[in-house]
Amino acid sequence: MDMIKNIGVIGAGTMGHGIAQVAAQSGYRVCLVDINAEALERGLAAVGKSLDKLVGKGKLDAEARQATLGRLTSSSDLADLADCDLVVEAIVEKLEVKGAVFKQLDGLCKDSAILASNTSSISITKLAAVTQRPEKVIGMHFMNPVPLMKLVEVIRGLATDQATFDAVHGAAERMGKTAVEVHDGPGFVSNRVLLPMINEAVFCLHEGVGTAEAIDEVMKLGMNHPMGPLALADLIGLDICLDILRVLQEGFGDPKYRPCPLLVKMVDAGHLGRKSGRGFYDYR
Ligand code: NAD
Repeated sequence: MDMIKNIGVIGAGTMGHGIAQVAAQSGYRVCLVDINAEALERGLAAVGKSLDKLVGKGKLDAEARQATLGRLTSSSDLADLADCDLVVEAIVEKLEVKGAVFKQLDGLCKDSAILASNTSSISITKLAAVTQRPEKVIGMHFMNPVPLMKLVEVIRGLATDQATFDAVHGAAERMGKTAVEVHDGPGFVSNRVLLPMINEAVFCLHEGVGTAEAIDEVMKLGMNHPMGPLALADLIGLDICLDILRVLQEGFGDPKYRPCPLLVKMVDAGHLGRKSGRGFYDYR
């Protein structure tokens, strides 16, 4: 039996509005919450635009678009999530901020509610430990852009129970995603494997083994990657790449995760990739 009917999504940014969209499209009633009124407005507008695009491409009919919007509400108050069966948190990647939100949710959500985080790197076990319901805390790691990317990494914290895992796995599949089970550990699987590859590509550039174009071309044509690692780093944001490498380095205490000095230097210079107009490539 499907235990999940009402879903709360916290954070209406890049990830949160996408998660709210796919959940509402899949028949769930969704409440999207953001503390920033402008961000909430922008997130809702982005959902509308994305649905319009799907209608334009003939992938969604006008009726389904209306029904999706009818299932989506918004709020600036976490208390409006009291009735949710599942809450997916997608706010800033800071342990203290996420921890405070999980503590608040634990106090106001019903006892049966599952609390999930879309974190890219923060320990699910640590987030679970600030609540009185660690068995109902889990990672639900969507990929960007959420409506297009198939994967959801479902991350078990140390205490996550089977019923919670099954419910979240089922919800991800109902959203049209492929859910893959992983256990809690720095970077989970996705970023633990991806970031060392990106870092190694930066080392190749740093040491003059190849130009940025050459390195990306080798990985695209030779390994069948849709995008080279340096172009991908620019897309993710070089500051985010550096943050995740530091999580791996600190979490494992293994020097193999040390960030390439060139990556550190570029972040120091404010060359953060596409979002700043300049990274390994020039977007200006
Ligand atoms: P973002 O900055 O685009 O959006 C975050 C939103 O959260 C903002 O609108 C902000 O106003 C809101 N917010 C911050 N604190 C809040 C609070 N206490 N209560 C309610 N709202 C709050 O961030 P994003 O890129 O969407 O990332 C969100 C999460 O998803 C992070 O944990 C990130 O690591 C993870 N993630 C990001 C990506 C990506 O490619 N961007 C991919 C996978 C996972």
